[in-house]
Amino acid sequence: MLTFTNIQKSFDATPVLRGISYRLAAGENLVLLGPSGCGKTTLLRIIAGLETADAGQLLLEGEDLTAVPVHQRGFGFVFQDYALFPHKNVYDNVVFGLRMQKWSAEKMRVRVAQVLDLVGLAGFDERAIHDLSGGEQQRVALARALAPAPRLLLLDEPLGALDRALRERLMLDLRAILQDAGGVVGRPEGITAVYVTHDQAEAFAIADQVLVLNEGQIEQVGSPTELYRQPATPFVARFLGMGNIFPGEIKKSTATQTLVASPLGELQVKSSSLFQKGRAVPLLVRPEAGRLAEADDVENVMQATMVDLSFRGRYQIVTVRVGDILLKFEMETAVDLPPPNQPITLVLDKDAINLLAGS
Ligand code: ATP
Repeated sequence: MLTFTNIQKSFDATPVLRGISYRLAAGENLVLLGPSGCGKTTLLRIIAGLETADAGQLLLEGEDLTAVPVHQRGFGFVFQDYALFPHKNVYDNVVFGLRMQKWSAEKMRVRVAQVLDLVGLAGFDERAIHDLSGGEQQRVALARALAPAPRLLLLDEPLGALDRALRERLMLDLRAILQDAGGVVGRPEGITAVYVTHDQAEAFAIADQVLVLNEGQIEQVGSPTELYRQPATPFVARFLGMGNIFPGEIKKSTATQTLVASPLGELQVKSSSLFQKGRAVPLLVRPEAGRLAEADDVENVMQATMVDLSFRGRYQIVTVRVGDILLKFEMETAVDLPPPNQPITLVLDKDAINLLAGS
């Protein structure tokens, strides 16, 4: 298990990490997600031992890592730029860490075959690195990092240099590879990994837990589902692509439901805690909240005007106007909507409205 406590770091008196604490369970993978400059690479480099924290503590299985140099940490690395040996073949690249650890020839042969199979490159041993696609090179880099059964695997934007199609394929494979890798290399608890990306789709596809960083502080930590269903703050909601965020004020609060005044009118919101009357709360109207009203709808019904439809296959992105406010929703393509400028009666599902923290 990896524990970091109150990690702080400044460059030239500018704070880049402002007290980051998290406990990563053995076999779990944590994705550090945030916009450019939020400090995720710095945090990864501190965990790696390539950078020292100004304050805070880093423990792996109870061992304080502060004084342990990079090469003695027993970690595996995968970076955006592959960092493979271009003049060696696939086998010699993958076997590199095992040679350093003086494995026997037979054990090395078996392990290389196992990890190449794991990453979908069985039989590629003799291939030259420069003959491989970017995606294949990154699979080799992953096989090389996994071969010695690292105590911790660190990945920094590993898909960053790939084109979109390759990215999407490897993204889906990566989670499965990370899940299977522990069994293949002899870590039955699974491979513990920390993964840096600024791409939320990538984070969602790969992560057990996502840690969202904003200007060197933790904004939220949770599973992809938790983050998507209950983003804690406007920053997280916006970063996940949800834009219907409005100021709200608590009018009435019970154990199960809250009435909130908003620029869209008074809205009923499902909630599980009591809020003080008059308190200001940001309100997120989720993309799935909007639908056309039916005759028996009574809550959160409002008059709106159709603005735009954007077809996305199974669903459509629907832009409507309520007063002078634009709202975007995702609705099934099967839902028939009137053309632009026509009035509609809209309902906002109270289960799909979130009360957020902060401002
Ligand atoms: P990106 O996705 O762009 O790499 P990031 O979230 O990984 O962003 P970091 O690379 O951790 O961000 O950088 C955080 C801040 O610290 C940035 O403002 C960066 O310019 C600064 N920074 C990082 N390394 C150094 C350094 N060695 N010296 C001075 N400033 C640095």
